[in-house]
Order: sequence, then C-alpha cells, then structure tokens
Amino acid sequence: MTSSCLTHLACTSCGVRHEADRLQNVCLSCGKPLGAQYDLARAGATLTPDSLRARGHSLWRYAEVLPVRDAGHRVSLGEGGTPLLRCDRLAAEVGLDELHIKDEGLNPTASFKARGMAVAVSRARELGATRLAVPSAGNAAGALAAYAARAGLEAFIFMPEDTPRANVVECRQYGARVTLIRGLITDCGAEIARRKAAEGWFDMATLKEPYRLEGKKTLGYELAEQLGWSLPDVILYPTGGGTGLVGMWRAFDEMEAMGWIGSGRPRMFTVQAEGCAPMVRAFHAGETRAAEFPNARTRASGLRVPKAIGDFLILRALRDSGGGALAVSDEAMIAATGEVGSSTGIFPAPEGAACLAALRRLVSEGVVRRGERTVIFNTGSGLKYLECFDAAE
Ligand SMILES: *Cc1c(COP(=O)(O)O)cnc(C)c1O
Ligand SMILES: [Zn+2]
Repeated sequence: MTSSCLTHLACTSCGVRHEADRLQNVCLSCGKPLGAQYDLARAGATLTPDSLRARGHSLWRYAEVLPVRDAGHRVSLGEGGTPLLRCDRLAAEVGLDELHIKDEGLNPTASFKARGMAVAVSRARELGATRLAVPSAGNAAGALAAYAARAGLEAFIFMPEDTPRANVVECRQYGARVTLIRGLITDCGAEIARRKAAEGWFDMATLKEPYRLEGKKTLGYELAEQLGWSLPDVILYPTGGGTGLVGMWRAFDEMEAMGWIGSGRPRMFTVQAEGCAPMVRAFHAGETRAAEFPNARTRASGLRVPKAIGDFLILRALRDSGGGALAVSDEAMIAATGEVGSSTGIFPAPEGAACLAALRRLVSEGVVRRGERTVIFNTGSGLKYLECFDAAE
C-alpha cells in the first residue's frame, strides 16, 4: 500500500513552517501561498520509475508525493494520464523538428483544473471541510462542482456573469450553488472572502489553498515519464493564476531530489492574452511582483486573471528557467484553434491555442530553434468555448 509522505507545509515566501493536518489557506505569518513538503527519501523508496509501470493511469499513481493520507478519501473521476501527442505536421509548419501537445482537454470536466480539484477536494474532505467555495473564471468552477458532487460535499461557485455558458450549465448540473457576479474573478474572490466565515465555507481559490498546486504538479511527473525520463527543451504554458506552471516547476525539483532526472530544466514560457497580461508586463519590466492588470478583457476566460497571489512564484520560475512571457491577441488565438484542429485532430481551448500563436513568434524571432524539443500545454477542450466561434461560422 502506497501512502502520502507529506511532512508539513512551508510558506513559499517567508518559509515559516505550518502543520499540514489542519484545514488552512495561506501563510499565517505573511499571507502568501503555502507549499506541501514531503519526505522525498521515503517517497523515493517505493515511488520509482519502475514501480510506476505497474500502477494505474490516474494521477493517484503518484500517491507518495500527494497530500491525501487515507486512500479512502480519494475523490476520483479518472483525472490525469492524458496523452502527450507528437504533432509532426504542425511542427513542420512551425519550423521545428519535434513538437508535442499535452492534451489536458481529455480530463474529467474537459480541463486540467480537474487535476487540482481532485486532490484539493479529497484533502479538504479528509480534513473535515463540508462546504467548499471557489472564485473562478470558468473551468475551476466546473471542476470543483464535479468533485464536490462526487465527494458528497456542497459547492458554492462565484463566477463573472460573462463566463462561457458551458461552465455555468455544468456547475448547475453538478448541483452546485452558482452566483454570477458583475465583475472579474478578483471580485468573485472578494465576495467569498467577505462571506466565508459566516457561511462556514472553505476557500478553494487557486494558491490560497495548498493542494490544488499538488494536483497540477502531476503534469510535470507525467511529462517526464512520457518523454522517457527526460524533460523537453521548451515549454509553453497558458498562464492565469499560475498553478500549472509553478506546480510543474516543483515537480521537476522533486524528481531531481529523488534522482530521476538531472539538473537541466526546460525554458518555460508563459503565454497570456493581450487584454490581460500582468505576468508579461511584469516580466519585461524586470519586476518580481505583478501589478493588477487594468480593464482585463479576453475571451480566453482561463487567462482572465488580472491579479495572481502566486505572481512572484511564476516570475521566478520563468527567470530561473531562462524562459520568457508573451501575449497573444484573441483573434490570433481563435485563428490558431483552427490551425491546431486541422493539423492535429485536437480541438484546443483558446488558451491552449494561444501557445501555438506564441510559438510561431518565438520561432520567427529565433528564440526557439528548430532542434529544440518543444511541448505546448493544451489546458482544456475547445468544446467549452463554442461562443468564441459564433462570429467565425
Ligand atoms: C485555469 C486555466 C488556465 C490557467 O491556468 P493556471 O494554472 O491558473 O495558470 C489556462 N487554460 C485553461 C483552459 C484554464 O482553465
Ligand atoms: Zn509566509
């Protein structure tokens, strides 16, 4: 029986240690995100590249480096284990020898938010939470609603009123209580913060809860395994709150500590929308924190995050990796959706397609070179964004 090797939580900013087996949100000392810490020597004794061959495909195969202690508390809909698809025709069009798309649209609820919510809901239930609330730009809401339904817990969802219709409909069908807010995800978060104590809600906001990050971290483990225990040269990742990017970066360090990979790292590139690009702006200004992006607007709802609590973690990972940050227009990402679709058979979310538009620019500028093995993360399915294509029909 494999079990969690979680030891404690440590603040990602000031380092203060927190006890892990208690429901909590951010650092009690400085208010920044908490990160799970594991006994990696013990984890590595049973979790090995060899042992993984015999395990199932869902992300629970990495149980030793996940926070859920009792397997009976795992809430699963079959998350993780998505394909890494080599795309030779698209690679040739872009001017690369090797390009892969990690297709996260195949997760339950059709986005990679399932990874984070599967782990966070399981852990919240294990620690006694019963009423879960989340501010969401769309896909996190659907994922929380689904996993809460599976777990038998209540979900309280706060989304902007112009969130894609699929997200609103799915949440209601999962039995969640949905409140639509005139404003952005930041306004939704503020509403939850105001009411949570009185309502008895546990706040599941991204990086304000320690364990969604752990679920998303499994992207990094899967990627290394699918590339034969190596990492690519370049990763493009559509970034909103940053959990996916920061999670992968943690996974690489854990794998190195367990001796599975060396010290080399991919160059990580954040892709955002021109109408909401706080990380791009901060990266190019040389800042370590990102100011709130004014009048955030983009149809790629997952990228409509004007302010992220994990900004310093995102910016640090981009710089430590030697990568960068770039913004793409909505028109370019919608056009790129069709280019990915017609040359690969994957119907990407606009957020994922944005990475193709960004990659073309990086190749044409010589930042990414032909021989560099490149991976794009398609974080969700285009089927959840049909209204983006109304004008184009
Ligand atoms: C949430 C979301 C993102 C952004 O992910 P983060 O890990 O929060 O940066 C990108 N694409 C889609 C489809 C999303 O739902
Ligand atoms: Zn702290």
